[in-house]
Amino acid sequence: MKIQIKIALLFTSLIAVFVILLSGFVYYFADRNYFQDFFKRLEIRAVIAAKANLEADENNVSIYNEIRREHLEKLPYEKEYIFKIDGSGDIQDTLKALSLPASFLTETLAKKESLYRHNSVFYLGFLYTVNRQNYLIVMSAKNEFGIEYMKNLRSVLIIGAPLCIILALSISLLFSRNILRPVRKITERAKDISSKNLHLRLEVKDGSDELGELALTFNNMLDRLETSFEVQNNFVSNASHELRTPLTTIMGEAEWALGKSRDEEDYKKTLAVIARQADRLDHITKNLLHLAQTGFDGKTQDFKKIRIDELLLEVQRSVVDFHPESIIELDFSLLPEDEEKLYVMGNSQLLQLAFSNIILNGCKYSNYKPVRVALASANETTIILIEDKGIGIPSNELKYIFAPFFRASNTGAYKGYGIGLPLTQNILRMHGGSITVNSSVQKGTVVMVKLPIANLD
Ligand code: ADP
Repeated sequence: MKIQIKIALLFTSLIAVFVILLSGFVYYFADRNYFQDFFKRLEIRAVIAAKANLEADENNVSIYNEIRREHLEKLPYEKEYIFKIDGSGDIQDTLKALSLPASFLTETLAKKESLYRHNSVFYLGFLYTVNRQNYLIVMSAKNEFGIEYMKNLRSVLIIGAPLCIILALSISLLFSRNILRPVRKITERAKDISSKNLHLRLEVKDGSDELGELALTFNNMLDRLETSFEVQNNFVSNASHELRTPLTTIMGEAEWALGKSRDEEDYKKTLAVIARQADRLDHITKNLLHLAQTGFDGKTQDFKKIRIDELLLEVQRSVVDFHPESIIELDFSLLPEDEEKLYVMGNSQLLQLAFSNIILNGCKYSNYKPVRVALASANETTIILIEDKGIGIPSNELKYIFAPFFRASNTGAYKGYGIGLPLTQNILRMHGGSITVNSSVQKGTVVMVKLPIANLD
């Protein structure tokens, strides 16, 4: 069943229960009120009738008769009966003739008053005592107005309640249709989006409500999907290009050398080129292998407790050994006082590889200007900032830098393969960490690495 129908039915059922309960209450209380009021009128008339008929003082009798005449309008089919209670069975017979039950008399004797209703005729029994003689006054009348009123009320409620329910159903259908319209739009738009037109986005009118949030989340997901589709598309062509360039050179050089006899010097030069290109191939394939291996999560079996400041010192040494022109300034001024906070769980070789990649990039892309490496900790996380004053990364290309083989458009003059950062990201993810890069062209780049502090116990 569609959610729209579900909402409408739920809403209507609630309204129906409410309307039925309310109608029941209205009917019950109107009925009670009307009939109590009528019995009250009968009671007044019964008292006056008793006084007018049984009072000894003539003056009072005439006053009561006048009250009856002048102030008490006759009720429809109003009748009064006065019985002397003397133990004879006559009263019961007469009451029976009036269709009154035997309990009517006993109840009146016990409670001094009793009420009885037969269809539209109402009876009030009333016990009156004069000179130690008990009398039963029975007053009856037809409650025509009350019966008619209740009949009308019943008709109004019987017609009104279903009408209300039908109205509630229509309104709730309209209401739920309106509420779910944006969802339908999202569905229709989402149906149009496929791998061929991943650039399409959902319309976000108001990002603050739930549906706006849903559309925003969906759009963000599409952004990521589009980027990863582009990355995938570029990966194969980039990879084959990166592998083919050294291969073509090797094949060309070998062909040239084999074409005819050459000098020893020429052979040496050719072999040197071949060795360099083979070295490059080796580097690329090794990195690719690493990338593939670190792409799998959960390889935590050989993780050890590592002091991150010592690891950074080690990286500094090895980078400077490899590229003596590198200047790496380690800033440990924000080092946590608690030494335990310097430990992370990890694989020392892989983490060294990750930090070397980032620091080497900083040195390379700043033409070996000083690179600052700062270490700090916050809550359960170690933060390492690597900052250079190099060429930076164009802002529109930032989102691709973790894609294998991607190289920014301003790196033409620098050697590289575009595998270092994806590998670094994989290594950090394996360690439960993250890497974010902020950069502006010609100003420099700041790389922030976060790693969880090793469990202190
Ligand atoms: P590469 O071998 O090209 O350096 P990486 O995977 O290490 O490959 O980096 C990917 C790309 O990210 C680089 O080609 C470069 O465009 C950009 N990049 C990474 N670090 C820096 C940096 N510190 N300064 C400027 N650009 C950088």
